Parts: sequence; C-alpha cells; structure tokens
Amino acid sequence: MLDITFYKDITGHDYGIAHLFEHLIVQSFYYDQEKNGSVSGLWGWFGGNTFSGTMFLTAGFYDKEVQKKFLSFINQPININQDIVINEIRRMEAEDDVIIDYHFPTVIEALKNINDGKFIQLNGNNEFYKQIRSSEKVLPKSKILHIKRSRKEFQNFCVKVGIKNPTKIDKTVFMRLFIPAMESVSLVLCREAAYGYFDDGPIFDDKKPFYIYRYAEFTIKKNTFNKKKLEDAIKERLNGVNLSRHKKQIKNFIRQYYQNINNPDFPVDYFRDTGIITSKYHIYKSFTPENVQKTWDKLEVKIEKIT
Ligand SMILES: [Zn+2]
Repeated sequence: MLDITFYKDITGHDYGIAHLFEHLIVQSFYYDQEKNGSVSGLWGWFGGNTFSGTMFLTAGFYDKEVQKKFLSFINQPININQDIVINEIRRMEAEDDVIIDYHFPTVIEALKNINDGKFIQLNGNNEFYKQIRSSEKVLPKSKILHIKRSRKEFQNFCVKVGIKNPTKIDKTVFMRLFIPAMESVSLVLCREAAYGYFDDGPIFDDKKPFYIYRYAEFTIKKNTFNKKKLEDAIKERLNGVNLSRHKKQIKNFIRQYYQNINNPDFPVDYFRDTGIITSKYHIYKSFTPENVQKTWDKLEVKIEKIT
C-alpha cells in the first residue's frame, strides 16, 4: 500500500472556505471513482484536515491505478462543481448543527482563489517544513460563511448494515467487507447532505434472528429526513454493486490486511466479534471474489431515528 500526505499553505484564506474546499476535494474524488464503477473502500481511502493556515490531505491506496488517478487529480486545480459545493455546505451544517448563510458568487470566487495554490507532497526526505499553523487554539470565524448554531433543526439517525443468520464464511468475510459496505452507504448519505460518524467495528447481536452488523450515526436536517427514502437509496446502491468486476481490487484489499504486521490481533478480533477461531491465512483465503459477492448480496439495511 502506498500512503501519501500532502499539505497546502492556506495562510490568508478564509477558514470556512478552506474547510469547504477540503470537503469539495475529498467528495469530488470519491464521486469520480464511483462514477468510474469503483467501490469505495476497496481501492483505499482519502481524507482531509484543515487547520488555521494549513490544510492536510492524506490518502492510502490498495490499487495502483486509482493511486495514479489520485496523483494527477491532486496535482492540478480541481474542478469546482457547484452542485457539490452546495451539497457540502449542507453537510457542514449537519457536521456542526449550524445554519450557514452565504452569497454564492463570493463563495465560488474564494474557492477559486484557494484552488490556485499547489499541494506539496511530504515525501520522507528528512526535511522539516516550516510551521504554518498559527498558535491560536480557537479556529478563526469565517467572514464568508455566516454560521449560526441551531441544534433543533437537525435529526440524528443510525444506520445498521448487516446480515441475518450469517454462515461461518459470511461472518469471516463481513469482518472486512463492512469497510466497502459502509463507505458505499456513506457516499449515498453524503449525497443526501448527511454527515456521519462510524463506530469501531462490527457488532454481533446474538438475539434471534442473529445479526452481524456495522453501525454508524449520521446527522441530517430534520425537514429532509425520510427513513424510507434513505433506506431505498442505500439498498439501490448496494444492489448495483457488481464485485466480479473488481477481482484484482478485492485481492489487493485483503492482501493488505493479511500482510499488515501492525495487526497482530487479527484472529483475536475475529473471535471476539464472530466466535470463530481462525488464522490470518484462512481469513485471507476465504475472501475470494465469489464469497465476497455472496455475502454482499445478503446485506440488509436498517435506519433508526436517534433524537
Ligand atoms: Zn468538515
């Protein structure tokens, strides 16, 4: 696996716009990959962090082709898609339980300005880069995105994605398959302007019927919450995934876990979460594209309101 860190000096740029820009970059790349038929989570991962004056992007790839696409994506100004910008402002509202007012042309202009500067790759040549982050502990207020707290406008809900009465193979496969499954769910919910937080790992529920599932919490504007619509959108996405097209990615994805020496508790986790005693090698061998598709086809989705 190749993991990469980039940073960008954003001194003098509005913090709210920088945060929005980070969202825009990350979502644009995920959407592009999905449009190309990729399954999120199988090719790797990509995320960002924005501080006052500095932005970081970190990514890791199991798939060299996607890595190549990422490097060309990040080394040129990104395409500022207005629909994604509007959607990401809505997601930032859900992220912090706030309402954001803005003048759209000003937002686009400020995004274009921040888009001009290059990202610099931190590539391990023992160099210390200058400290850009200011020492302020409190992040500066945005002058362009006018933010007002309003918890009452938001609704939390949880999403469970799991398998009823799983076989031994289903359990073994699900322990890794939940990553692309939840990434796919997350992308569907991003498009609905929901903002999500994930738990640590799979949960198993030994009441009848037995379930193994993964749990995540999301926040969305109350007036757009529609349980059935969200469940249907997720089911449609999961049903549309054809894993037989991604045999190489599946192999690379599971090999990464198998070869990761920082993961010595692997069989212990499996035992704790599934009750199965098995070896890393057997887990690796069980994760065949055929098994993965079979388990994927059994995935069920449930949404529950929290507050
Ligand atoms: Zn954010």
